[in-house]
Amino acid sequence: DHGSFPYERSAPDKLLGGLLPQGFDEKSCRSRYESSMYRRNPGRQPSPHLIAKLRKHEELQRRCGPNTDAYSRAIQQLRSGKSVGSPECKYLVSISYRGLGNRILAAVSAFLYAVLTDRVLLIDPSNEMDELFCEPFPGTTWLLPPDFPVSSYTNFSIDTPESYGNMLKNKVLRNDVDVSSTTATQQLPAFAYLHLDHDYGDEDKMFFCADDQRLLSNVPWLVMRTDLYTVPGLFLVTSFQEQLDALFPERDAVFHHLGRYLFHPTNRVWGLVTRYYRAYLARAGLRLGVQVRAFDDWQAKSPHVLQQITSCVWKEKLLPELLATAEEEHTAPTPGAVAKSTTVLITSLRAWYYEQIKGMYWEQATATGEDVSVHQPSHDEYQQFGAKSHEDKAWAEMYLLSLCDALVTSGWSTFGYVAQGLGGMTPWVMYRPLNITEVPDPPCGRDVSMEPCFHSPPVYDCKLKRGADTGKMLPLVRHCEDVSWGLKLV
Ligand code: GDP
Repeated sequence: DHGSFPYERSAPDKLLGGLLPQGFDEKSCRSRYESSMYRRNPGRQPSPHLIAKLRKHEELQRRCGPNTDAYSRAIQQLRSGKSVGSPECKYLVSISYRGLGNRILAAVSAFLYAVLTDRVLLIDPSNEMDELFCEPFPGTTWLLPPDFPVSSYTNFSIDTPESYGNMLKNKVLRNDVDVSSTTATQQLPAFAYLHLDHDYGDEDKMFFCADDQRLLSNVPWLVMRTDLYTVPGLFLVTSFQEQLDALFPERDAVFHHLGRYLFHPTNRVWGLVTRYYRAYLARAGLRLGVQVRAFDDWQAKSPHVLQQITSCVWKEKLLPELLATAEEEHTAPTPGAVAKSTTVLITSLRAWYYEQIKGMYWEQATATGEDVSVHQPSHDEYQQFGAKSHEDKAWAEMYLLSLCDALVTSGWSTFGYVAQGLGGMTPWVMYRPLNITEVPDPPCGRDVSMEPCFHSPPVYDCKLKRGADTGKMLPLVRHCEDVSWGLKLV
């Protein structure tokens, strides 16, 4: 038990055990230092090594970031098209696209890669990335300036000739020559595009091999597109393993730490989070978050999906079961005899599940005498792109789920991954139904860790140079519960 709201935290804990840097203006981004007051579960402690590396990386972002002389020189070099010797500063631009969950996972993946390779991370500001989050690095900006010379980057795809995969395919770059002499024998381009999107090809996936990383380390500008959580793939790169071991002694908390470090809701979104939390969640005995991701139209009002949710929460004893009405008069405990109350926070694009579950707990008594209240902040009906209030609500709801005490999520959904990671909770995952009439059996299961799943990992052994099951190569990188071919850290 961590006490009642607001959860008291001493100064170092406000900085999440040293994860967050000091020195930001508190009023311009209230969430950064207020978040610990809203979290009953304080979460995991970052390693001293991670803390030190983050402070060093912040210094790099300040020294080489936008509005510095080093940045102007690097942009000059990019315009010239050729790389020269050993560059003073190197950069990684991360393209932001698709849903908010995908964008957050992409940014964390890019950030960890930037940290491992000492590159400045610059985030493409499209899709509200500049409006939803505060700046994470003190004294500089992580947003890619609008005058970035490679202006066509937002259209980069699997066919872009400058992609690493296409440069390998077309022998513009060679990864099969003696790597120690590579820079001497090959003229490297000033920039390469890393296509790490769900549709990427075998050559693109060579990114996850140490020899290819050595080659890429000499390219000053990299532009990355991914909609995936590629972090488990970085653990497969042998040359990164020593660093990763030191940074993350607890392998299952990579997203937990990096997500809490990077993503602070801006004041507008923080208002949505905190007003809702105080009004509906703060006084509950137990907060259960239930994320219902309706991927297809038939899931808008599906009795089978409803049955999946209720059987999951009853089977796993997350909510009390209901008494049939006739039975009730004889067996219902005296009202008020049980002090425990549970608040269910449902998030979904649809209102129907919320209405049904709320109705059940009003119309029928619980077997334990416990009171259950059910809330859902919004129901926008369908996924919208570029609508500011829609994005704000999505971010606020992900965050509110992360403030719950236990979580039930929809498998496959990056929206749920972000909530579980920020909150430091291993969720119960509802397996994705394959068709309209099926209720998966079992309806849900406890996940193996709080980490997001890498949905389209490489299936290649870099040493043996042949196909391999990457879920069997390292003890702490395993297949996911919800996406059987995916990879996750445990
Ligand atoms: P994924 O598609 O489930 O992996 O998650 P994403 O976050 O990448 O994309 C889904 C998008 O649909 C979100 O970013 C929201 O815009 C919207 N969305 C999905 N579920 C919810 C929800 O429960 N609440 C709100 N407000 N929006 C949602």
